[in-house]
Amino acid sequence: MAEPNAARTFINSDGRTLLFSCEDFVEQICKGGACFICGASPTQTTFNDEHIVPRWVLRRFNLFDKAITLPGGEKRRYGGYRVQCCASCNAVLGERVENPVSELLSGEFGTVAARMASEDAVELVYIWLCLLFLKVHLKDAAVPVHKDRRRGTHVIGDLYDWADLHHVHAVARAPYTGATLLPFVVGSIFFVEVDDRGGDEWDFVDLTFAHTIAVRVGRVGIVAVLNDAGAAESSWSHRLSSIDAPISGAQFRELAAMFAVANDDILERPTYGTLIIQERWVTIFAKVPAKLRMANFDQKKFGAALEFALGNMIDRIAVDGSRDPNYVRERVASGEVRFLIDEKGRFRPGSAVWAPSD
Ligand SMILES: [Zn+2]
Repeated sequence: MAEPNAARTFINSDGRTLLFSCEDFVEQICKGGACFICGASPTQTTFNDEHIVPRWVLRRFNLFDKAITLPGGEKRRYGGYRVQCCASCNAVLGERVENPVSELLSGEFGTVAARMASEDAVELVYIWLCLLFLKVHLKDAAVPVHKDRRRGTHVIGDLYDWADLHHVHAVARAPYTGATLLPFVVGSIFFVEVDDRGGDEWDFVDLTFAHTIAVRVGRVGIVAVLNDAGAAESSWSHRLSSIDAPISGAQFRELAAMFAVANDDILERPTYGTLIIQERWVTIFAKVPAKLRMANFDQKKFGAALEFALGNMIDRIAVDGSRDPNYVRERVASGEVRFLIDEKGRFRPGSAVWAPSD
């Protein structure tokens, strides 16, 4: 009747894999080159590799021929940045995820925010973020750590513990399995209006260690944690509720660092599992500790997270009136710098922190 947790792979009578065991997920999907949704082998069926950054984003922001910088420093055209996917799953993802999400995230920020009053809409955007995070990390299995092959042939994926992605995979393929997500499976997800003067219209950063992702589509910023059962958002609720104006690109990245550190600070983590009832109905559940307990805020850890989250943006921001990137980097890494709040802890609108030349 029921399949507790992900101990073994479950394939239904139509041959659809409703659940991958952690081991099969790692062997077949992460390392075996199977379709990342259904698990089919490229020798069995037609493949039509899935764009990692969705086609509608590439179209909307004219990115097809632009280059994305991969973690090892290599550049690749967005249009060719894809992950192994069969033609039929690619079509399913388009119809059930990408098309509706592209509509949900179109228009002014206020219009998008109003649509997010619907729990179903938020859930779909959350699934979309899980998909994006998963695709980026599956691709890393093939991305060299060193651009210069003489320095070694390791791939970024060698550094990952793939089992950590197992839960994200289960959520990302819910549109294929028809899985219901029970409460707390959708973790922290926060929508905010971003006005990043001088920045790109599409922005993506992920803090892998903390399963945290920040994506900006035009002025719509979304920060989410993929395995925290809402803890990061709830621990920062006082700060989030004070945001009453559009924020800058740097402030948006700061939110990502805040969410990542909060997730890393959870002392008793939520756990997840999948139930399959009568070989048909798939349900993903979360087990959440009765009380949320967090480690004390560690300023140095926050500084390191913020420095990582800001990335190249460090070159175009000012701290204490200085735009010297070395100085900015050092101050950010100290954990003492905040863009989102002033010295009294009050929210600072984005317009107050844009660099003068922007
Ligand atoms: Zn497939």
